[in-house]
Amino acid sequence: MIHQEGAVKFIPPPPKVFFRERARLARDLGVLGIRAMAFSEPILVAETFAGTGIRSLRYLREVPNVEHAYLNDLNSEALQTIEKNARLNRLEDRITTFRLEANNFHYTLKTQEIFPHVLDLDAFGSPVPFLDSAFHAVREGGVLYVTATDLPALCGVDPRSAFNHYGVLTMQNWFCHETAARILTRAVIRAGARRKFQAAPLFVMFDGLALRGFFQVVHGRYDLDPEQEGFLSFCPQCWEVRAIPMKQCCPRQCSQGHPVELAGPLWLGELHNPDFLERMRSEFPRVAHWLQIERVAFFLDRMREEVGMPPFFYRLDRVSKRLKISPPKVSEVIRALKDRGYPAAWTHFHTNAFKTTAPLPVVFDTVRALAH
Ligand SMILES: [Zn+2]
Repeated sequence: MIHQEGAVKFIPPPPKVFFRERARLARDLGVLGIRAMAFSEPILVAETFAGTGIRSLRYLREVPNVEHAYLNDLNSEALQTIEKNARLNRLEDRITTFRLEANNFHYTLKTQEIFPHVLDLDAFGSPVPFLDSAFHAVREGGVLYVTATDLPALCGVDPRSAFNHYGVLTMQNWFCHETAARILTRAVIRAGARRKFQAAPLFVMFDGLALRGFFQVVHGRYDLDPEQEGFLSFCPQCWEVRAIPMKQCCPRQCSQGHPVELAGPLWLGELHNPDFLERMRSEFPRVAHWLQIERVAFFLDRMREEVGMPPFFYRLDRVSKRLKISPPKVSEVIRALKDRGYPAAWTHFHTNAFKTTAPLPVVFDTVRALAH
């Protein structure tokens, strides 16, 4: 039986070839993101861990300027699957396959003077071992689209792995997926900076499976801002969360004098570029028939709301439990906080959560006042 996703047909993925149907959102966002880049020349795409090749085939079919895709996988069965899927879509003349270790693939692109506009690095686990070489391959002005699936490390379940791979401290709490996104973002930005590239986050998100970061890569001297990197401190006792820039690192106590936990160093700046999210949204009318448009719109809108908000969020069920009340609706809390004069927003990281600049006592008081 032949499957279909977006504009692309594909054979059932063999058991040993990596494919996650549920990762469709990441492929949809990739299509929109590349379209929104509005490259003025024919686009070259490279995929480091290509698996079935569906992602690149979708880019070839669903983004008008994509001319050629370079797909790599170490698994020979994956390469056969890619060739079959390419023929099925009459795209066999527009792909080149490689069977190389990931870093070797990046360096091979460079030595063959193939500089992709889009380098799609969907690693199993941490992408960190491949980031430095990725910045050798990707073209100036291009995009690095990075996936990380090592959530146990980044979410504090396996702190040793986090320290080994990222050199960071982690925390295990309800906003750990945002902490994880910020650790990954800093890792990408730092790898870029080592090669004198600026990697600007256009969006960095958690889709329920993995972290996805879409970075614009610009070559040239620039200085990283110590105010945008630092730590998050969390008080397990009173729940105070604070963003602590590098130079102020690191208070050991919250404002009430309780000992705090620390996560970082991580990225404290914006995870999303609101103009870019708007450009992605403006592509909807031209791709609506290929994408799961409602799901994509949900995430784009939530990400847009997060811009300008603090680098953490509150989960309403946890707050309500702490206050021993039955929880109000998130929308009611956001409205009430805004009525009190504090910016407040939904977050894409969790459905039952909100972000706000309001101090913690105000958050508690607002939620309590709405108790049913
Ligand atoms: Zn405290």
